[in-house]
Amino acid sequence: MKAMILNGVSDFERNRQPLELIDMPLPVPGEKEILVKVTRCGVCHTELDEIAGRTAPPHFPIVLGHQIIGRVERRGSKAERFDLGERVGIAWIYSACGKCKFCLEGKENLCAKFMATGRDSNGGYAEYTVVPADFAYRIPEIFSDSEAAPLLCAGAIGYRSLRLTALQDGENMGLTGFGASGHLVLKILRYKYPNSRVFVFSRTTEEREFARELGAFWTGDTEDEPPEKLTAIIDTTPAWKPVVKALRSLEKGGRLVINAIRKEERDKESLLEIDYPRDLWMEKEIKSVANITRKDVEEFLALAAEIPIRPEIQEYALDEANRALLELKERKIRGAKILRIQ
Ligand SMILES: [Zn+2]
Ligand SMILES: [Zn+2]
Repeated sequence: MKAMILNGVSDFERNRQPLELIDMPLPVPGEKEILVKVTRCGVCHTELDEIAGRTAPPHFPIVLGHQIIGRVERRGSKAERFDLGERVGIAWIYSACGKCKFCLEGKENLCAKFMATGRDSNGGYAEYTVVPADFAYRIPEIFSDSEAAPLLCAGAIGYRSLRLTALQDGENMGLTGFGASGHLVLKILRYKYPNSRVFVFSRTTEEREFARELGAFWTGDTEDEPPEKLTAIIDTTPAWKPVVKALRSLEKGGRLVINAIRKEERDKESLLEIDYPRDLWMEKEIKSVANITRKDVEEFLALAAEIPIRPEIQEYALDEANRALLELKERKIRGAKILRIQ
């Protein structure tokens, strides 16, 4: 099968082609696993973190990609949850132990043995992939394969982030950064919190325009001060400065949720600008969102079908994965980027 593989940690500034197209043997599913013929795979900012080594795969070569849509091609002897040919989705959670305190409390996203698709196991930048059947999802029929792919990470993690903000309808919500996840969160907000005003901070005019088209109440640069204080803010940027600015815009008792697997180091000194009485006192909170549970994915897919959410997508061929990642890095974003595989 054809696959785009990453052979080691790489610097995009020096190497614009970190992924290599190769032919590799078809994976064989274990007894509780299914072999999935991949049709679409979403491109996520986390792939950039993996390539740069901020969240490095434990072994190489590795096939990236964790927003996978495909059809069940083969099943292990104890993997009969899906029919052959049935459409399934695979998300970031590849497996968790199922036995530890966190798993038993429904926090499998925090399991010490958490394995991530496309980092700890081969993912979806390939014609086929393998996953434990218990970690695959049925996809609501109303979505095309391309529409469904970004729901599996950008959408589901956005949904989890929104839940962690504990926002109530009518309260002001801020989004810093407006990529694949932000635009899906805005669509959820418009449906579930119709009386909340959404304030979007973004460095690019294109993203700000896009946010206004989707119903943002106010948009501005990361540096701008919004006209009203915000009860909750979700940060999806890779940088620190937006975090510091967001704390300034937060209402007393408000919560900032950081939806980023890793932050880049380059503007870390911005943190020294935090002024305790102005930016943190008055019970302001900062919380990160880590990974995802199967319940998040299932609940979000059902909600997305109910609304229904139609993600804005941009398609690339499998062998254009390097270009898709570079454009993501350069924030040439409108909606979600998808690899069209077969
Ligand atoms: Zn992702
Ligand atoms: Zn566990």
